[in-house]
Amino acid sequence: MKTRIAIIDDHQLFREGIKRILEFEGDFEVVAEGSDGSEALSIVETYRPDLVLMDINMPDINGVEATKQLIEAYPDTKVVVLSIHDDENYVMRALQTGATGYLLKEMDADTLIEAVRIVAEGGSYLHPKVTHNLIREYRRLTTERGGAAVKQEVRRPLHLLTRRECEVLQLLADGKSNRAIGEALYISEKTVKNHVSSILQKLNVNDRTQAVVVAIKNGWVEVR
Ligand SMILES: [Mg+2]
Repeated sequence: MKTRIAIIDDHQLFREGIKRILEFEGDFEVVAEGSDGSEALSIVETYRPDLVLMDINMPDINGVEATKQLIEAYPDTKVVVLSIHDDENYVMRALQTGATGYLLKEMDADTLIEAVRIVAEGGSYLHPKVTHNLIREYRRLTTERGGAAVKQEVRRPLHLLTRRECEVLQLLADGKSNRAIGEALYISEKTVKNHVSSILQKLNVNDRTQAVVVAIKNGWVEVR
């Protein structure tokens, strides 16, 4: 069974690019396309896609409002937001509507595919840069609340992960993509992917966002 996807974005070329990348994978089918928020609802009503890729900036009804209406009417539909904004205000607003994915339009094809797979399976996905900004914001709020900023001591989880996996976990928390992690550690992207799946398995989580959340809660990574 293919994952049925609808793409809502006011730029035709962007829709076409995304459609090609997704359909090249073989397990995705783009069933409908729309160019503004008001079309999104009728598309979902007609095609009942499993997942909607939703642009934020659109004329007429924007992506945030459209997502809100869409999830109210069809709570099972999964929405991945497409945005050019990586600051936490935009992200929080989008997530409050019920979207479970947030991608930056500067993403590469692998990130898009990974995000769609994870969200289609019921997980959540935030673009690595977005994760990093949210973590920094979280840290800012928690240290402000606690008075003077305390430099937290990092204890690497060497009882759980190898030294290399600890390095990868830190880079995940830094908001690095698989490619950037590979470049930083002089290893291939394929090897990075293997390390990431091993980390997810050992930490018993479904996706990299959850892995980073667990790592921060336990003080296993430095927030920098
Ligand atoms: Mg747009």
